Amino acid sequence: MDTLRALPSVHQLLEAPEASAMIASHGRPLVRFAVQRVIDEERRTGAIAQPDARWSAIERVIQELRRPRLRPVVNATGVILHTNLGRAPLAPAAAEAAAAIAGRYSTLEFDPQTGRRGRRHDLAADLLRHLSGAEGAAVVNNCAAAVLLMLTALAKGKEVIVARGELVEIGGGFRMPDVMRLSGARMVEVGTTNRTRAEDYAAAITPRTAVIMKVHASNFQVIGFTETVELKDLATIARQHQLLLLHDLGSGALLETAAYGLAEEPRIQDSLLSGADLVACSADKLLGGPQAGLLLGSAALVDRVMKHPLARAVRVDKMTLAALIATLDLYLTQSIAGLPIWEMLGASAESIAARARAWLSRLTERGALAEIVAAESTVGGGSLPGERLPTTALAITPRRRGAADLLRRLREHEPPVIGRIVEERVLLDPRTVLPGEDDVIVEAVIAALA
Ligand SMILES: *Cc1c(COP(=O)(O)O)cnc(C)c1O
Repeated sequence: MDTLRALPSVHQLLEAPEASAMIASHGRPLVRFAVQRVIDEERRTGAIAQPDARWSAIERVIQELRRPRLRPVVNATGVILHTNLGRAPLAPAAAEAAAAIAGRYSTLEFDPQTGRRGRRHDLAADLLRHLSGAEGAAVVNNCAAAVLLMLTALAKGKEVIVARGELVEIGGGFRMPDVMRLSGARMVEVGTTNRTRAEDYAAAITPRTAVIMKVHASNFQVIGFTETVELKDLATIARQHQLLLLHDLGSGALLETAAYGLAEEPRIQDSLLSGADLVACSADKLLGGPQAGLLLGSAALVDRVMKHPLARAVRVDKMTLAALIATLDLYLTQSIAGLPIWEMLGASAESIAARARAWLSRLTERGALAEIVAAESTVGGGSLPGERLPTTALAITPRRRGAADLLRRLREHEPPVIGRIVEERVLLDPRTVLPGEDDVIVEAVIAALA
């Protein structure tokens, strides 16, 4: 008990000169919190620290709380839409547009011409209609919200027919059928995991059916003995029975992936032309914009859906809208080179190899050992499953410690460099490394090998 008497009070410590400097940089409440925490710990363990060690401990508590947790990383994984790394990086023009709106008042829900109230989800609507051919369009928080909203507004208490093989998990443990059930619609599953036919849908229709729902297989492939019903055939069935056809498209491409040597990913336009009444998709997958959900299709349906009270709960933020509008403007003016993900998808084999070689020669100059290898990039992010793009990567074979250790050291660099391990080597793929990040790669590798 005696030793504890040597423990200074929080008040005494806050009056010390060491505390004044900390208070000046971090504010009094945070310093008080850290002092209290360190003193409590000393009291609990009975290990009374020397003043210097105690002040260091207090500083550590403060630094830990203030450590920036959301910070940029360099994506050298070769996965273009990397969900854990924030999916699509925005076009510089889109990032600037978001920043320009963020710290100011704006026309978010205000029409300066009339001085009257406007609707935020209308701001991007003209552009979306023009680019997709949709009659109506609206923007919400993300694709999952768009699906939940359209089913809640259009099918609550009614039956929705969906193929069993399309009840997908979208990652992070979230399953679309759970989201769909939240709407209060009754999901009626038809077909089997690998095969669903038009008759399966037709046979499941009852007087309570309101919707036929199609969910795009965006993050998996069913191969072998398979059969699915095309959207246009579902449209015929829906029309015959006066049902709505809703399409959860997911990836939301406006451009043709086939033109990039990739498998065909249905575009928003294709889905609408095939007869979907409403299409829901993400803005941060193949559209290459910010996280948002797009609803496109019949103007009357979009209107009905956006009048539902749930629309308020899933509404989109002003920074997102600014970034989305700027992204759509790049499509409008065919400035696709301004969109990072399409640059990555379309990067020539030669330009990628040249970058890998440039990294290698800079590393070799500085005595680091690495080599150039052929590898594969992927699209990721629930788009084009199974598609691989040939790439040229920098491969580093760790000498002393293993590849996992090297990967960790690269992650601990500031900014972190994220690579991947293939056959006991660390691979860094130039395809997903943004222009201007080359120096970081070289410095991170040098530091990690030191
Ligand atoms: C990605 C995806 C979703 C979820 O989209 P979020 O924008 O992440 O909410 C839903 N459905 C499909 C088919 C998807 O591919």
